[in-house]
Amino acid sequence: MSQSQETLSNLLQETRRFAPPAELAETANVTAEAYEEANADRLGFWARQADRLTWSKRWDTVLDWSNPPFAKWFVGGELNVAYNCVDRHVEAGLGDRVAYHWEGEPGDTRTITYAELQREVSKAANALLELGVRKGDRVAIYLPMIPELPISMLACARIGATHSVVFGGFSADALRTRINDAQAKVVITADGGFRRGKPSALKAIVDEALKDDSTPSVERVVVVRRTGEQIAENPRDVWWHDLVDRQSDQHTPEAFDAEHPLYILYTSGTTGKPKGILHTAGGYLTQVAYTHYAVFDLKPETDVYWCSADIGWVTGHSYIVYGPLANGATSVIYEGTPDTPHKGRWWEIIQKYKVTIFYTAPTAIRTFMKWGDDIPAQFDLSSLRVLGSVGEPINPEAYVWYRQHIGGGRCPVVDTWWQTETGAIMISPLPGVTAAKPGAAMRPLPGVVADVVDDQAQSVPNGGGGFLVLKEPWPAMLRTIWGDDERYVKTYWSRFDGLYFAGDGAKRDEDGDIWLLGRVDDVMLVSGHNISTTEVESALVSHPKVAEAAVVGSTDPVTGQAIVAFVIPRGSAGEEVEGEGFVAELRDHVAKTLGPIAKPRQIMIVPELPKTRSGKIMRRLLRDVAENRSLGDVTTLTDSSVMDLIRAKLPSAKPED
Ligand code: ATP
Ligand code: MG
Repeated sequence: MSQSQETLSNLLQETRRFAPPAELAETANVTAEAYEEANADRLGFWARQADRLTWSKRWDTVLDWSNPPFAKWFVGGELNVAYNCVDRHVEAGLGDRVAYHWEGEPGDTRTITYAELQREVSKAANALLELGVRKGDRVAIYLPMIPELPISMLACARIGATHSVVFGGFSADALRTRINDAQAKVVITADGGFRRGKPSALKAIVDEALKDDSTPSVERVVVVRRTGEQIAENPRDVWWHDLVDRQSDQHTPEAFDAEHPLYILYTSGTTGKPKGILHTAGGYLTQVAYTHYAVFDLKPETDVYWCSADIGWVTGHSYIVYGPLANGATSVIYEGTPDTPHKGRWWEIIQKYKVTIFYTAPTAIRTFMKWGDDIPAQFDLSSLRVLGSVGEPINPEAYVWYRQHIGGGRCPVVDTWWQTETGAIMISPLPGVTAAKPGAAMRPLPGVVADVVDDQAQSVPNGGGGFLVLKEPWPAMLRTIWGDDERYVKTYWSRFDGLYFAGDGAKRDEDGDIWLLGRVDDVMLVSGHNISTTEVESALVSHPKVAEAAVVGSTDPVTGQAIVAFVIPRGSAGEEVEGEGFVAELRDHVAKTLGPIAKPRQIMIVPELPKTRSGKIMRRLLRDVAENRSLGDVTTLTDSSVMDLIRAKLPSAKPED
């Protein structure tokens, strides 16, 4: 048995199971037969999902994989993505259905029906055409979570321009790099957005990014007025209301090739320099629409769906914009943060719009655990019926908390594994089918072929751990890294011959179900055993006084690497956590839960953890702290003062034993 097989292995024993509620199982959009159907004929299965869309010209070939790893899906097919997301619903008589309930942070609201969305997108498309944007041009979008964001994306898709959305929290440098990498011709931005009750400037950051001719491709900057704050005006600027409002609300969409570039999106940069991931029209839309329908059991006539992600991340692209709209869903979009003006804001929104399906990230769930159970308890969350999680492994304890305190113990929780690169959900329970285990992504979805392999690319047996790979191409797969085919091949297709390497560690339990174990770069080697950060973190979070934990390996003269943990206590745990006694209690708790090998050498109680702007824990910075090095690149951190707070804790955090 190679090392990786014995590894990352079954430290965590999880026996809890949550079967689908009977009613959901009976009425579910997708049943267990879908797995068989897809196994019997995978390409036929995807062709049937593509048929849920409206094509101007049908494809000749479902998949062309003659030049791997460069895939072409639905070859010869033509469609317009915006038409599929908007117009066809209006044509089907659903123009009055709400597409978005938009909620601004200050409490202003806007309700947009599909008919209005069609008019708004058409006007924006005409505006882009007036600015000279043509098929194949790139448009950078740097907006807060306001309706103009999805409208801009759809306007690009409608005219065949390729959008590159840059998350509104990114710096001028990050924006400039992305604009230049994509060679964007136009930038769409706003004067600012609202963040924690205050206007927060965006246009000034665009000006900084574009200054001194550092982005020569940019011809025009379109500015939405959101906050009304003063901005510096430049000859290349044009106000959205001056440009878009006077356009015709009629625009006839043209059909584009299935492989036409829809968007470029940069990965969140958790492990290194972000990669410009390219997604194309037909395959992407097919898989996001299918997965949104299957994984959330979307019933567009009755459901109110809310994904709390920012549209600046792939989760927002696929599951706020393209998937839900392709399915004719009614969604909520919220501009602000969960704690403004109070820590019950999200639950208030669920109560207000009677949200039935809610999709969020473990980082948010752990924050709510830290804030305390009493906050969601003050709101009526009884409309909810399906809950989802994405972004990081969800610790079993956080899963159970989410199910209990948000889902009232009745809603299935789907832990969805996927990446910017995969474009759509790949591994997840199906809410009407799967008896889910807390913390497990369970099985590849119908039509997806995933595996856990050892370092020789051999499947590990049940009970084994190794590397997560995808064995067959899938419709929403990235087509390349923008402008860098070589890096695409090297990053994803070179580790294992013919397999897509996701960069994540995983295990397959005794039942054959898949558990994600974190980035392979984060795996620790302690006395010859590979131990996953996720399992130790989950063991810590299973202690009733712990809300959140991050674990790293630090060089150790005896064991090679030793486990160092950073722990945030739960809200109600209060002062009791400060003493030495608490640290000893936690170390023993880990030893009891996972075995003595996983006992952390050192545990630091900290107020915050360093996170990327998408909310993921950045372990490499904690590794620097644990090994007493100066910090690496902190530019993707949400708040770099967090590292000072953690450093300040260091002197008292001596190694024990
Ligand atoms: P970069 O690739 O630049 O380091 P990133 O990987 O954080 O950034 P994303 O594409 O946003 O960028 O994140 C995908 C990763 O998030 C996955 O590879 C995985 O590590 C993690 N992830 C997402 N969903 C889950 C999940 N349900 N369970 C476990 N891990 C998940
Ligand atoms: Mg990644």
